[in-house]
Amino acid sequence: MLALQGGFDPHLRALDRLGVPSCKVLYVQDLEGIDGLILPGGESTTIGKMLARFGFLEVIPQAVSRGLALFGTCAGMILLARQIRHYDQVHLGLLDIEVERNAYGPQVESFESSVRWRDGRTTPAVFIRAPIIRRLGPQVEVLAEQEGLPVLVRQDRILAASFHPELTSDLSVHRYFLELCGADSQETRRDSSSLQP
Ligand code: GLN
Repeated sequence: MLALQGGFDPHLRALDRLGVPSCKVLYVQDLEGIDGLILPGGESTTIGKMLARFGFLEVIPQAVSRGLALFGTCAGMILLARQIRHYDQVHLGLLDIEVERNAYGPQVESFESSVRWRDGRTTPAVFIRAPIIRRLGPQVEVLAEQEGLPVLVRQDRILAASFHPELTSDLSVHRYFLELCGADSQETRRDSSSLQP
C-alpha cells in the first residue's frame, strides 16, 4: 500500500478483511517482495511530487515489467494515466487512458452511487472529486461503468478506479485486484472451495 499521502488506511482495512498480508510502502526498498501495489486517493499532485522525490518514478515501471500488479483509486488512477487533461503534473503514465481531474465537480459534489460490472452485478461506490476517463487506449478493458461512463478499467495487471471502493463494505474490487496479483485471499479460497464438487 503506497502510504506517502492520501487515504491508504481504508485500503489496508479492506485487505485485512480479505485476510491478505499487506504493508505500507514509503521507500522504494519496500517494493521488494510484494505482488501488488495500491495507489490511494488523495491529492495526485502531492503524491506525484513525492513519487519523484523518493525515486518511485523509475522503480515502479521496472517492478511492473517484472510482474508487479498496480491498482489506483481516484488520485491513484490519475497518477497511472498516460495523459491528464489540462494539467502538467508528475505521473507514472503506465495506463493508456486520458483522464480529466475533478470532472464531476468540487468536493461538495461528491456522491455515493453504484457501479455496474459488465455481467450486470453492481457494487457501491463513493466518488470524491473524481476524475472522468476521456480516452481509452485499445489495450484497456472497461470492467465497470457508472451512468454510461467507464469507472473501473484494466490493462494487463494494472487496475484503476475513478471511485473509492475502500470506503464501502463491498470487497469485490479489492478481490478482483488480488486475482490480478496472483494472490489468493482466505475468503476467495473459501469461496472457491465451496464450489468444489
Ligand atoms: N481530485 C483529486 C486529484 O486530482 C483526487 C481526489 C481523490 O483522490 N478523491 O488529485
